[in-house]
Amino acid sequence: MIIGILSIQGDFAAHAAVLQTLGAQSLEVRTVADLRQSDALILPGGESTTQLQFLQEEGLFDAICQFAAKGRPIFGTCAGAILLATHVKNPPQPSLALLDMTILRNGYGRQLASDVFFGPCTLKKDPLEMVFIRGPIIESIAPGITVLAKLHGSPTLVQKNNLLAATFHPELTNDPTVHKHFLSLISNSAPATKSPRL
Ligand code: GLN
Repeated sequence: MIIGILSIQGDFAAHAAVLQTLGAQSLEVRTVADLRQSDALILPGGESTTQLQFLQEEGLFDAICQFAAKGRPIFGTCAGAILLATHVKNPPQPSLALLDMTILRNGYGRQLASDVFFGPCTLKKDPLEMVFIRGPIIESIAPGITVLAKLHGSPTLVQKNNLLAATFHPELTNDPTVHKHFLSLISNSAPATKSPRL
């Protein structure tokens, strides 16, 4: 099982470190060929406008949409969640439009450092630690999207089938709950790299 991590900017190395502590193998994804070797994909935080431009230039934009359509799990954190949303505001921008929700960029204003909050999460008994860095706010979600964590009553971690999105940075805490959940989605999906030998 290989988890691809979009590795053009942002905190991709922090995701790789969490996956390593969980015993999962990761791969830095910069090309369509890299994506083809991956069973699942993480879209990390960073700057969604920059990432979007890179995806379009490299042909990864369409390749990721096809990857999602095959049922392969994708986890977007912060800028990655913005890329997954169908509607982006503040300002509006194109997106992969895979997860039917409206998201407001830089929802916490021009935040320079990180803010840490604790909120309820269905994946664990205790409140989940959530680190926000110029994080987006999920304004609305379509029916059928499950809310897994909240802050001040608004969703911060949502899922629909193979797609998971967090407005915060679970890779910057010592709590692997969210990544463990993502790995559980992968074990339930079809493998990308193994084809039957004849
Ligand atoms: N505000 C950034 C954006 O709109 C996301 C910030 C982050 O990923 N930490 O792309």
